[in-house]
Amino acid sequence: MLHLTTCAEDLSIALNLLLAGEPVALPFETVYGLAADATNPEALGAIFRAKGRPADHPLIVHIASAEHLPDWAVSVPEAAWQLAAAFWPGPLTLVLPAARTVSPLVTGGQTTVALRVPAHPVPQAVLRQLGRGLAAPSANPFGQISPTTAVHVQRHLAGKIAAVVDGGPCPVGIESTIVDLSGQQPRILRPGAITTEMIVRHLPLAGGVAETAPRVPGALDVHYAPRTPCYLIPAGLHQAPFPEQRIGLLAQHPADWPVAKFWPMPSQPEDYARVLYAVLHDADASGCEMLLIAQPPDEPAWAAIHDRLRRATRSPSTSAGIGVATEPA
Ligand code: AMP
Ligand code: MG
Repeated sequence: MLHLTTCAEDLSIALNLLLAGEPVALPFETVYGLAADATNPEALGAIFRAKGRPADHPLIVHIASAEHLPDWAVSVPEAAWQLAAAFWPGPLTLVLPAARTVSPLVTGGQTTVALRVPAHPVPQAVLRQLGRGLAAPSANPFGQISPTTAVHVQRHLAGKIAAVVDGGPCPVGIESTIVDLSGQQPRILRPGAITTEMIVRHLPLAGGVAETAPRVPGALDVHYAPRTPCYLIPAGLHQAPFPEQRIGLLAQHPADWPVAKFWPMPSQPEDYARVLYAVLHDADASGCEMLLIAQPPDEPAWAAIHDRLRRATRSPSTSAGIGVATEPA
């Protein structure tokens, strides 16, 4: 795999690969994405092959600006323009009724399409030069932890893709918030850095926002998951839950029982999101037999973190009981 920098010469190599129908991993503000020309069925097919992603899982299309919405959506509701004006470029994805021209590889055979304008300068530059949309799911094998550095991409997709552009660590660190605007009422399909509260503030006439999650990959029970068995535990547990195991602990405060490794986690949700996947990659490779993650605060600002931890661990998000936790698949 070519390890490209963000200099103009390297970006033109990436651009030529994309024009030739090759997927290229790019840094986004969220996580590294495996980008490919969203108008080229062969390029889209290559994304699914490289990731081992099931064909019915739709892809987010990244566009240079909101002006391109009508190229992809058959109709653009007022709410979409409002949210676009408030949060684009940025980590918010809008699901809209798809134009007839959108490939079924992008929509996963559904009648909707997911669209986003990324803020990161690398995809911004590439989109402007390419003049087309870029489909870009996270640049990792399906179901595993998303990459937030070029090294994560290399470790997991070596031999499967032509190149990665190294733009340093991703500033947000978790996947975009997804809002479905294709139905009667806006619905949050996946929580992210743009919180429900922020969205509601910009949709005064929408009559509230629902927070149910229908069938999307990010909504699978186990996703973004380390291979090491991983459990959520209550913060401030006073007793070693699995004393005979080599435990790796991810928590905001050290435990008063012995652990093989401790990863101190940030106290603010934005900082926690930024480092979460890098810590999970590291912890997964650390040789610990089991990873324990202390529940962060049960507050709305932590919703996206709770969502990702729930999927990484398969433990019930709100339950304190490690006794009811099950092992990840
Ligand atoms: P990722 O693989 O992390 O890029 O995730 C892409 C997310 O966008 C997944 O949760 C997809 O299911 C979701 N998505 C993409 N297109 C659609 C769509 N048309 N309707 C609903 N969700 C979508
Ligand atoms: Mg993903």
